[in-house]
Amino acid sequence: MRYISSRGQGQPVEAAEAILKGIAPDGGLFVPEAIPVLDKVIFNAMGEWNYQQRAASILKQYLPEFSNEEIDICVHGAYNRDSFDDEQIAPLIMLKEHLYILELWHGPTSAFKDMALQILPRLLTTSARKLGDMSEFVILVATSGDTGKAALEGFKDVDGTRIIVFYPREGVSQVQERQMVTQEGRNVNVAAVKGNFDDAQTGVKQIFASRNVINLLAGQNRKMSSANSINWGRLLPQIVYYISAYVELRQSGEIAEGETVNFVVPTGNFGNILAAYYAGRMGVPINKLICASNANNVLTEFINTGVYDRQRKFEKTISPSMDILISSNLERLLFELTGHDAVRISQWMKDLQQNGQYRVDEETLKKVRALFWADYSSDAETRAAINKTWNQDNYLLDTHTAVAIDVYNKYRAAAGDDCTTVIASTASPFKFGSSVAEAVLKPDKIQGRSEFEILRLLSAATGLQIPPGIENLESKEIRHRTVTTPDEMEQTVLSFLV
Ligand SMILES: *Cc1c(COP(=O)(O)O)cnc(C)c1O
Repeated sequence: MRYISSRGQGQPVEAAEAILKGIAPDGGLFVPEAIPVLDKVIFNAMGEWNYQQRAASILKQYLPEFSNEEIDICVHGAYNRDSFDDEQIAPLIMLKEHLYILELWHGPTSAFKDMALQILPRLLTTSARKLGDMSEFVILVATSGDTGKAALEGFKDVDGTRIIVFYPREGVSQVQERQMVTQEGRNVNVAAVKGNFDDAQTGVKQIFASRNVINLLAGQNRKMSSANSINWGRLLPQIVYYISAYVELRQSGEIAEGETVNFVVPTGNFGNILAAYYAGRMGVPINKLICASNANNVLTEFINTGVYDRQRKFEKTISPSMDILISSNLERLLFELTGHDAVRISQWMKDLQQNGQYRVDEETLKKVRALFWADYSSDAETRAAINKTWNQDNYLLDTHTAVAIDVYNKYRAAAGDDCTTVIASTASPFKFGSSVAEAVLKPDKIQGRSEFEILRLLSAATGLQIPPGIENLESKEIRHRTVTTPDEMEQTVLSFLV
């Protein structure tokens, strides 16, 4: 299995190199040359396997140069009972007839990014070893909240790596900040940046491009790398849970052989829903992939019109992990749907960079619309979905998953389709507890209270437990107090690395 760039330049590379590089040298994304298809025998066999066995079997298809033992070490190191609070890793819960919730948030940070970031560091260091690269990898992350903590937990104490996370001092919630500044591990650093997320992001990009830093680190046998969601090593582990969910539905008798399912995915960077698309290409019979957005509804517009236009106001919503205007992973989908037409992809991406928008041709749009359906949910609709699902179905949704449910209801009303459906649930309700509490508790109960007090009220009112990783935060020791300015970020990195 080799990987090629979606922009068509350069030679195909092996998986290890694609994972280590993260992004292709021509600026494109690495894509497998061919997508493996699983046969009926494997799907049937998987019914008897646990999550780790399913994961190992699927990863092996895409990482043929990795030995079975290497893959097993990566899989078991990532998905185990120390890190995940549910034996099934990604349990599938029936909400009502023919409607299921795939809970992807039982990992250490209570959000779905753990599904990929628990295993990425292991795939990365195994890849480096296979390529004979003995450098220490310095992972730099700028975060608006979720990714930073998930990356810290993933890279914590992984030999051969260091991780440095920058977050905007005024841009993250109290819980998110506390999650990061209490981070344990001997290879981790965290710094607050006086500025917003863009300042932190720009600062990190400048450090990646800084000759001074590159040379200094080379002298220390170190290399910089990133953990962002365009790395194939982050996408691949996400394919697993869609296949696993399908296998569960077959196993329980919910669906018969050949019967199709819908997946509904609350979408930001298009990574999670793209993984569902790959699961379909590998043999999961999919009816529709339902792409759910918040008020930053650039993907809704694209899927309905074929125009991707990022020139719009950035909206701050109660589902902040989907507040994104450039959905990078869409490039991979277009590459697949055009039959690997790198020339067309390069032109569209150039249009996006130069004019802030691109329009795909009619044929490509038709292919997109054959498989995808899209709509969005306003904050008010999202709150109403949380309230209604709690009161009618006794299930507490986080704000991102509620976007998915609301859009699914719009789809049902529009399409009249009652095919078995799986909603990807991307965060614990306690991860975004203040907004969830606003949707289910009376306003006077929460007014003037701290985030931690609100979490306790929410827990008391619903009878649900606060995940341990969030509950203990208030009493945990603060280990990271560095505050820096955008201009001093480079110096901060170097000071962490002496
Ligand atoms: C990152 C994230 C998303 C969006 O996922 P993409 O892969 O970027 O589409 C949705 N919900 C939560 C809670 C997230 O952290």
